[in-house]
Amino acid sequence: MPPSFDRTFRNKKLVFLDLDGTVYMGDTLIPGAQDFLHYLREHGIRAYFLSNNSSRSKREYAAKLTGLGIPASEDDVLLSTDGVIAWLQARGVADIYAVGTRSMLEMMEQAGLRVDAADPAFVVLGFDRELTYAKLQKAALYLQRGVELLATHPDLVCPTPDGPIPDVGAMLALFEKATGKTAKLIFGKPNVEMVSHILGRHGASPAEAVMIGDRLYTDMELARRLGCDSILVLSGEAKAEDLKDLSWEPSLVAENLGAILIR
Ligand SMILES: [Mg+2]
Repeated sequence: MPPSFDRTFRNKKLVFLDLDGTVYMGDTLIPGAQDFLHYLREHGIRAYFLSNNSSRSKREYAAKLTGLGIPASEDDVLLSTDGVIAWLQARGVADIYAVGTRSMLEMMEQAGLRVDAADPAFVVLGFDRELTYAKLQKAALYLQRGVELLATHPDLVCPTPDGPIPDVGAMLALFEKATGKTAKLIFGKPNVEMVSHILGRHGASPAEAVMIGDRLYTDMELARRLGCDSILVLSGEAKAEDLKDLSWEPSLVAENLGAILIR
């Protein structure tokens, strides 16, 4: 493990935290999470909570965190939807056809996007737990007419207490079978669009940011692509033995959030 990572976070401005498996597991807080977030706040380091799940609203995540004893506002939550919005806005695109939940569509409309435009520049696919055949049909017909496809995140399935359920990646497979079209861009972790606009907002360099998470191919891969420090926590999906297969190493590996700080 590179010895260079400073566990006081002295040189950091931003900490990006995955949620499930990192801050909480289902409805239970991970040991040390509260203390760790408290330490960051005390030292003026801004924490953002990241989720690829584009079906839920920022309000829901902020309420869940606050209820678990980690006070958070909507501004502290970054969803895969944010990256798509920032990317479209940077290109001056307002007209899209979005397949997503009411929560996702509202977030896009608030950002000035027309989510059911007459002549959309892109079809944007989110995790739509309110999906109907009419939406599938409309999106497929646009794709066949040459409209390009964007997806909020790549996950094939979404874990639930009852087992995995189809997520955006599985819907992309459906559209590819039906129309031959693949996504031009897939946002969400590990795509750096998920956080690059936040670095810009805070005037921070990748060296001043840390990504903390429990998944190698999303959380740690995002850090690798961004060129920021990475902390793998073993409180969720990844196990210590999974590191053997990696051609690179996270900056730090810790049992959980409570084991990161040196006091
Ligand atoms: Mg996770």
